[in-house]
Amino acid sequence: MRADALPVDLVRELGELGCFGSTLEGYGCAGLNNVAYGLLCQELERGDSGIRSFVSVQSSLVMYPIYTFGSEAQKDRWLPAMARGEKIGCFGLTEHDYGSNPSGMTTRARKDGGSYVLNGAKMWITNGSIADVAIVWARTDEGIRGFLVEKGTPGFTTNDVKGKFSMRTSVTSELVFEECRIPEENLLPKTDGLKSPLLCLDQARYGIAWGAIGAAMDCYDAALRFAQKRVQFSRPIGGYQMVQRKLVDMVNEITKAQLLCLQLGRLKDLNRLKHTQVSMAKMNNVHMALQIARLARDVLGAAGITDEYPVIRHMCNLESVSTYEGTYDIHALIIGRDITGLDAFE
Ligand SMILES: Cc1cc2nc3c(=O)[nH]c(=O)nc-3n(C[C@H](O)[C@H](O)[C@H](O)COP(=O)(O)OP(=O)(O)OC[C@H]3O[C@@H](n4cnc5c(N)ncnc54)[C@H](O)[C@@H]3O)c2cc1C
Repeated sequence: MRADALPVDLVRELGELGCFGSTLEGYGCAGLNNVAYGLLCQELERGDSGIRSFVSVQSSLVMYPIYTFGSEAQKDRWLPAMARGEKIGCFGLTEHDYGSNPSGMTTRARKDGGSYVLNGAKMWITNGSIADVAIVWARTDEGIRGFLVEKGTPGFTTNDVKGKFSMRTSVTSELVFEECRIPEENLLPKTDGLKSPLLCLDQARYGIAWGAIGAAMDCYDAALRFAQKRVQFSRPIGGYQMVQRKLVDMVNEITKAQLLCLQLGRLKDLNRLKHTQVSMAKMNNVHMALQIARLARDVLGAAGITDEYPVIRHMCNLESVSTYEGTYDIHALIIGRDITGLDAFE
């Protein structure tokens, strides 16, 4: 984490463990149910949000769209290698001027004979510069479509975001396309408008809702151990009622978030999960995890600001988790529209 770099050696290991595309059937994927996949995200993010983000992007934002919208040739080419961690993917939807509102995107793909020519830029893209393939969402004459853009394609360059105090184990990049010509076969044939990338985000948000619980668990665990040992006024601080209240609030909120995710996972396995329910879990659980990280930081006193303990790292990471894949307020608007029937976005 101090190195501000992705531990790349983990990628193959995660592949060997079956962590990539783990709910997909065939193509070398593990075929897990959604609760098992959620627990996997929880445990990965108990380590670090950046590692869980890597798995979420590879699985939900790259393998899932290839599996769902791709041709058989595209699936055969990419899915087994990605499941093994031999190939890395990224997902380019956000642009400099279009984050919460991707429908305004300006990246364009112009049809030209047997190719498409891409122009535009994507911003804040996880795995951007290390990806072998980027799924890029662009405007075409037939609406928004998804394209597979391979590393090294002329006209495709990347620039990494430097100076991050959050997600230091994750690579975040800008993707730039200048007259970037890609063959027609690299269009994801079943993509159809903005609903296609939104479907991918829904998959990823489900994993995020579980993952945030893991970060909260690690913060709670650090605070509990510290409170049992740290003596002030001749007693361990864990023996004071106000500290106990903080620890109890943490364990209560973690348990409630787990129950919410468990139920959503069961509904997802039955194909009955609604996107608004995923929004509820993403906004609730990430908010909960951030509050727990801040409470745990407080319990640790001055020690909580160093990386000797994992808490401040989780806290900074969770600021990114809170912003990406829809902020708290954007998910509130999605749920608000559902329950009132009135759209506050327009
Ligand atoms: C570490 C990291 C990794 C990322 N990885 C990826 C990736 O792999 N692929 C990708 O495509 N994107 C990625 N993103 C981008 C992420 O999805 C966007 O940052 C997110 O959608 C928010 O967009 P924005 O940053 O432009 O903020 P904005 O959309 O500009 O929002 C700024 C603020 O305005 C508020 N706001 C916006 N609209 C409204 C409204 N209508 N009502 C009320 N409040 C509103 C928001 O809630 C927020 O508080 C990543 C971001 C980070 C930080």
